[in-house]
Amino acid sequence: MPSIDYSAVKTLVTLDRALGILGWRPNQDDGYEWRGYCPKHALPNDHSKSFWCRPKAGWWYCHVCKRGGSVIDLYMMVHGFTVREAAIELCARAGLTVPYIARRTARRLIREQEEDM
Ligand SMILES: [Zn+2]
Repeated sequence: MPSIDYSAVKTLVTLDRALGILGWRPNQDDGYEWRGYCPKHALPNDHSKSFWCRPKAGWWYCHVCKRGGSVIDLYMMVHGFTVREAAIELCARAGLTVPYIARRTARRLIREQEEDM
């Protein structure tokens, strides 16, 4: 099974795009940070602002779920996906080809990480 280039997925599918696919809209937008209902635990007509997101930084956090992270972490939380499933679903919903790492490159990356340890 080829390895997915997760950092490429995060670059290709921006957080605002992923939230748009989920039908999420902020209840509050100061141009830097968006706040609104959590796509996991709340309903779209909920006026809560427990879900915080900084779209330019690609970062989000839910103060109720106590979870946050990248666009991939968002799809893992909302859909209960594994990291691999979340990346594949994000690319599919955004109409993009999943960016895979060539097997030789993946092996080299693993070897380099092992050498760093
Ligand atoms: Zn939540």
